[in-house]
Formats: sequence, C-alpha cells, structure tokens
Amino acid sequence: MTVVRFAPSPTGLLHVGNARTAVLNYLFAKKAGGKFLLRIDDTDTERSKKEYEDGIIEHLGWLGIRYDLFARQSERAPQHQAAADLLKKIGRLYPCYESQLELDRRRQRQIASGKPPVYDRAALNLTAEERAKLEAAGKRPHWRFKLSQKKVKWHDLIRGEVEIDTANLSDPVLIREDGRFLYTLPSVVDDVDFGITHIIRGEDHVTNTAVQIEIFEALSGKAPAFAHHPLLIGAGGEALSKRLGSLSLKLLREDGIEPMAAVSYLAKTGTSDAIAPHVSLDELLASFDMAKIGRAPAHFDPAELGKLNAKLLHLLPYAAVEGRLRAAGVGGEAFWDAVKANLARFSDVKDFWPLVVGPVTPVIEDNNFVAQAVAALPPEPWDEGTWSLFTKAVAAASGRKGKDLFHPLRLALTGMDHGPELKKLLPLIGRQRALARLEGETA
Ligand code: GLU
Repeated sequence: MTVVRFAPSPTGLLHVGNARTAVLNYLFAKKAGGKFLLRIDDTDTERSKKEYEDGIIEHLGWLGIRYDLFARQSERAPQHQAAADLLKKIGRLYPCYESQLELDRRRQRQIASGKPPVYDRAALNLTAEERAKLEAAGKRPHWRFKLSQKKVKWHDLIRGEVEIDTANLSDPVLIREDGRFLYTLPSVVDDVDFGITHIIRGEDHVTNTAVQIEIFEALSGKAPAFAHHPLLIGAGGEALSKRLGSLSLKLLREDGIEPMAAVSYLAKTGTSDAIAPHVSLDELLASFDMAKIGRAPAHFDPAELGKLNAKLLHLLPYAAVEGRLRAAGVGGEAFWDAVKANLARFSDVKDFWPLVVGPVTPVIEDNNFVAQAVAALPPEPWDEGTWSLFTKAVAAASGRKGKDLFHPLRLALTGMDHGPELKKLLPLIGRQRALARLEGETA
C-alpha cells in the first residue's frame, strides 16, 4: 500500500510552493490507490502557530485535497525520544559541547586553510571525565548524528540516480542544547511509524535525504523511495522564495481563483504536459504521471493562472455552479450559459446580472439608427434565434453591417462595448426592457 505524506511547518500561510508539493503527493497517492497523511511539522515551538495549522487544513480542503491520516509532530515526542535513545545506544548520536562561536571560528580556520568546512568530530574524542567536567560546569550538550562517511545512493523518481558522499557533510545536529529536536530526526521517526512508502518533496531537501537515509537505515533497516521536484520560479525566472508570502492560497482564493484552476496549474507546471484546465481531481488523475515532471524549474506565473482560471470557468457545466449562482443571487442555467464564456472570475456574474434585470443606462450614439432598431424588434416569444432575425431586419432598414450594425446595438442594449453574446442575452433581457433601452431609458 502506497502511503505518502505532506509535512508542512505551521509557520506561515500555505503558499503555491508547498501547495504544489501537496498536490503532487495527493495525486501520486490516489493514482496508486494509496493513502495521504497530513503531518503538521510543529517541532519549532517558537514559530509554529495553531492559526497557521488551521489555515493549512482549510486551504488544502479548498483545493479538494482530503487527507486519510493526520498527525502532529509535537504530540509524538516520546517516539522521537525513544529513537534518539536507540541511536545513542548504538553509538550514532553523540554529545557535543562546542559553542556556536567556537564552531564559527573553526569553520573560518578550515576555510582559510582551504579545507571543507565540515565538523571535525572533536567531541568524539572527549573522555568520560572531560564530559563530566563540562557537565559539572553547567554545559549542556547538543547531539550530532554520526554519518557513515560513505556514499549514499538512491533512485529518485524525478532526478534519477543520486549519489551523495556523506564524508563531505558535517554530522548533523539532531537535538539542540535545550533538548528540543530539530526537524531531521522526528521526520524520519514519523515516516517509519506511519509506514511512508514515498517521500515527495522539494529539491531543497536533497542533501537532507542523504542524511535521512542513513537515519532510516539505522532505525529501521530501510528507507522509503524519494522524489524531489524542482522548485517553482517566477515567470521571468526569478526565485519565488522571497515572494511566497504574497503567493498564499488565501490571496489566490480572495482573488477569485477557482481551486481546480490552482490544482490544474500546480499539477502540470514543470511537466511535459501542457497546462490545461481540469474540472476535477479525478479527471486530472487520468493524465497525472510523476515521470512527466522534469528536472528544470517549474514556472509560476499569476497571469497564466488567471487565464487558466477563465478557461476553467468557460468549461463548467451549470450543475457545477448552481449553488454558487444561487448564493450570488443571480440567474440560473440560461444566464450561466449566456455569460460563462465572458468570465475571468466567477464573481463577474454579479457584474453581468444587471444586464438581464437592469438597471442598464444605455449608450445611444445615433437616434435615427435606434429608432430603426425599435421598429425592427420582433414580437415575443423570444429565443436564441431572435437576435439573428432582429439584426437582419435592422440591417435591411439601416443599410448597416458588421461593426457599424452590432456595436451601437450592444451599446444601447447593455451600456457596454463588449460582453456576453447577445444571441443568448437578448431572450433574457426580454422585449420590454430591450425596447426601453433602445429608446434611451435606464431599464
Ligand atoms: N516540514 C518540512 C518542510 O516543510 C518537511 C520536509 C519534508 O517533506 O520532509 O520543509
């Protein structure tokens, strides 16, 4: 059984970068008939906030991503501690007493003498007496994981064969002086306990993966599969990391982006597929394939998302929006059918509704011409064929055609120089209102 996890830290709003990681995990799990764990990585007690956790849950829900399992790292301290104890027992976790200042100085010396700034493992040489002395002087240790200093290899589902020599890395600190765990160990412990089979995350974690594979092997004998996706960059190739605060799902939502437009975009950017609107997650699943994700950075362009949003709206059947139209206090199926092709945001329906029910202040350019139009208005009942009958009659009476014919009619009937197809709108406006508008009345 495939089990994946999305593991955000609740230290800010869910943004397009981590939402993409969530979308890829979700689609991968569903495609495999597997499960999706939402894990809140809240071990950083200073920066983690409940309101951010609530926001993450709300915005995943908005995207349509339902989690099968839920965990909060802060509630799993006993399991993390037990793993730390085990690592200590087998000699893979060792106490270090250097201050930050001391470590910085050592690093600078290493760099100055042309050596890689890797932790020199001096603490491994401390005798029991020396450690006791440091402790007696009130020094608290931080704990480092003892890397194998061998080559760690894995077959990455996106990057292919990856090899990292852990001899080039510093033994990572897993536990701080104050006893708090950093992200690295709890993540592995939870991945083991929840039976995670695939870790799908951003490529900023590739180096972590070498370290974590060693921890997985020390704790459970084997590591899950990994897939590291390239990070999002802006339309012009700029890093998004600084702007992610302004690219939150909360803002996209407030800006009228449909959740499936966001999901369609995030699932397909950076893949070999074209970015196209998908009306549901199920429909998107059919074309989703992790193998289509490339190595090049994926673009995120808000203007492109805006266009995709419009395309998606144009595809939506009435049944998909019935409740929202009702909630917006606008018309039903015929109205949706008339206006959907002109929407950039769903909320635009509110701007178009007055075209049907008024009031519209007509724009009259030529009184003679509108008088000819008034005379040509067919009797009711009206349907989609009425516009053609009407405009043919006006053309015959006025001798106009093309833009000269249609543009002034649109201005008079809607007060706007562009908008939904009049063929569909006219029957909704109705004869009485159309007549009044052609006669220059606000109606
Ligand atoms: N909390 C980590 C992050 O947001 C999770 C990384 C991971 O997926 O392991 O970067």
